[in-house]
Amino acid sequence: MMKKATHQLTKAHNTTLVLKTIYKNDGVSRAEIARITGLTRTTVSDIVADLQSAGLAHDAGFGYSAAGKPPILVKITGSSRQIMCIDTSEKIFAGALIDLNGEMVFKETIHLPDPLGPVSLETVYHLLDRLKAKATAPILGLGIGIPGIVNTQEGVVLQAVHRGWRDLPMKQLLAAHCDFPIYVANDSNIAALAELTYGEHRQAANLFLLKIGEGIGSGLVLGGKIHEGETYSAGEIGHLSVVPDGAACNCGNRGCLETVARAQILAEASKHFAKVHLELPDEIRNAADPIPGLIKLFHQSDADARAIVFSAARHIAGALASVIGLLDIHKLLIAGVYAPFGQPFLDAVGAELKRRVLSAQSKDINIHFTTYGDDIVLRGAAALVLQQELGLP
Ligand SMILES: [Zn+2]
Repeated sequence: MMKKATHQLTKAHNTTLVLKTIYKNDGVSRAEIARITGLTRTTVSDIVADLQSAGLAHDAGFGYSAAGKPPILVKITGSSRQIMCIDTSEKIFAGALIDLNGEMVFKETIHLPDPLGPVSLETVYHLLDRLKAKATAPILGLGIGIPGIVNTQEGVVLQAVHRGWRDLPMKQLLAAHCDFPIYVANDSNIAALAELTYGEHRQAANLFLLKIGEGIGSGLVLGGKIHEGETYSAGEIGHLSVVPDGAACNCGNRGCLETVARAQILAEASKHFAKVHLELPDEIRNAADPIPGLIKLFHQSDADARAIVFSAARHIAGALASVIGLLDIHKLLIAGVYAPFGQPFLDAVGAELKRRVLSAQSKDINIHFTTYGDDIVLRGAAALVLQQELGLP
């Protein structure tokens, strides 16, 4: 009995190892897989045969050989499975189907002007139905990103202030409608996972991702792994105090980062800005969303527009300075509403950071926007399912 269990564990481990090797090398021979993994060629051939009969891999042409028969190359069959991804992190909820190669096969978004209470959960169910209807391959699993604290083991949303969710058994609720695995996670954490899996920071051991939208959260990668904290609430940086005795925050404290930098604050400043800047075209001045007007004048170096954005940049830098001071992380990524302000915004954050951290710590700090823009949480949901179900990447 014991021996059998061990054998199965070994087999599962070896299968993951082979799958990983094929995934990372994209076209690799059985002999090469054996060399990389240290497994015997017979074991590799058996596992590849299993993966092929499950539809996960296929033979794809011949490789180079200096002498003798050219080797057959094995590739992942990206289209063999699809991953359901749902993002509830902003007022625009999104659902997507992403295949094993990271190809987004389908995407739908739904705008919720006020995503509090029952409407938010109903929208999740609706997106789930849409994704089921649109899927064209077996589903590997569902990943869902939540703007709040999530017990990832149980799939319970402990608290998501901007959704009105508290101790919501999300995984259990969705499981009644699904016959595939479900993973529930914090939006910023899986955004960081997306960068590690698909983004430009694939090999990063440590990185910090700050996500600014309706709320502000962060994802922390330490030693190549997401750091969730003791109670799943690591990275709740939106409520770090950056303005002593500042404006009142939803959380009950004053001067939190959210009170000076979240999307709504930028929108309010933009609204006021549009009102007084008569030179802006009427369609921008009277638009429901005033931020495009601010972006336009910001890039024309308008002093007032720059003052609004750079003030937020300074507060954001203040919070990031605490992160660097504490953790000595030098790869900083920013996702969300400030992306359209581009490099001048990043430069402003960088300059303020340099002023705030010790000079020895400020060397080689690099700050970028995330690779996938608005799709970062959807990508993260896919990355989470890939990791949990197939051990990838
Ligand atoms: Zn707060």
